[in-house]
Amino acid sequence: MNLFDVYPLYPITPVKALDCTITDDKGIEYLDLYSGHGVISIGHTQPYYVAKVKAQLDNLSFYSNAIQNPLQVELADKLGKLSGYTDYSLFLCSSGAEANENALKMASFHTNKARVISFNNAFHGRTSAAVATTDNPKIVAPINAQQVVTFLPLNEIDLVEAELKKGDVACVIIEPIQGVGGLDQGTTEFFQALEKVCKAHDVVLIMDEVQSGFGRSGKFFAHQFHGITPDIICMAKGMGNGFPIGGILIAPHFKASYGLLGTTFGGSHLACAASIAVLEVMEKENLMANATKVEAYFLEAIKAVPEIIKVKGRGLMLGVEFDFDVSALRKKMIIEKHIFTGGANNKNLLRILPPLTITTDAIDTFIIALQESLAELKG
Ligand code: PLP
Repeated sequence: MNLFDVYPLYPITPVKALDCTITDDKGIEYLDLYSGHGVISIGHTQPYYVAKVKAQLDNLSFYSNAIQNPLQVELADKLGKLSGYTDYSLFLCSSGAEANENALKMASFHTNKARVISFNNAFHGRTSAAVATTDNPKIVAPINAQQVVTFLPLNEIDLVEAELKKGDVACVIIEPIQGVGGLDQGTTEFFQALEKVCKAHDVVLIMDEVQSGFGRSGKFFAHQFHGITPDIICMAKGMGNGFPIGGILIAPHFKASYGLLGTTFGGSHLACAASIAVLEVMEKENLMANATKVEAYFLEAIKAVPEIIKVKGRGLMLGVEFDFDVSALRKKMIIEKHIFTGGANNKNLLRILPPLTITTDAIDTFIIALQESLAELKG
């Protein structure tokens, strides 16, 4: 049987990894500055994490959500303390799209309304919650049988308010830093005004932190740079360091009832053990502080590359923009310089999304390789 061919693949076969280094089947080592779309948060095969997951696998990997699971309680407690959201509740699932889907569902139940406001170039997943990226601010795309989404430009609060005034909007969903779309961000002024208009119109504010959350920005959640408290916060990628786990944090004014949400795999013993280990390592190794430190170093060091027209993002969710399509550059960096970076819908953007353990030495390695690659491409 063939694999359904939906991914263009680089001709590399990784077989093992440690921290920020990936080794392929020929023994070649690669510097991982992409962490598999921001999934590897505490470094590949981090020893404490591996031991904890293995120990859990030996005991009990999975059982039904209808039976008590103290690991979920432990995860919620740790997550509350580290994020500052101690009074929110946690619902666990297995991926980013599923987190967003549950958030949208919660918003619909809560408001008894269906319409969703999203933003141009947003990316929220590929299931029924998929809010496809579009450059057309007017487009209205189906989310599921009941829901439609209206896309608006970022930072235009008057346009948001005009939609909310129509009275049929359940929620606004927004990434604090756009990931796949290309690292655009709302301003603090916009986020604060957004929180205010959502409250004024009883519209649920959903913060999609699937990519930007779990310490990647230097704070636990990227929206915390803006001094706002969303109603629902969605998480996934960095949460399990490679083990599939997602979740939503739900504000205290939402009432839970039996059967309101549900999942088979979400919050399994193994997934919880993985995520608890991630939080423990993040705290013990001060990884959010490392993200801030390495970001500052990167922003200074990258000035040595004059071809870059803009540096975008925050923390270790960064991108460098050129005035040309970076596909060939990215390929050269991987195949010849052995450094993984990421692309975006914005074809001129090279994304840097390393494990939060990355060092300033690795940034130096990246910059030298980038300078060499640019020179070689110029011929
Ligand atoms: N939301 C954001 C902001 C994302 O970046 C992604 C994935 O890239 C998703 C949601 C979807 O997550 P998943 O692929 O785990 O379903």
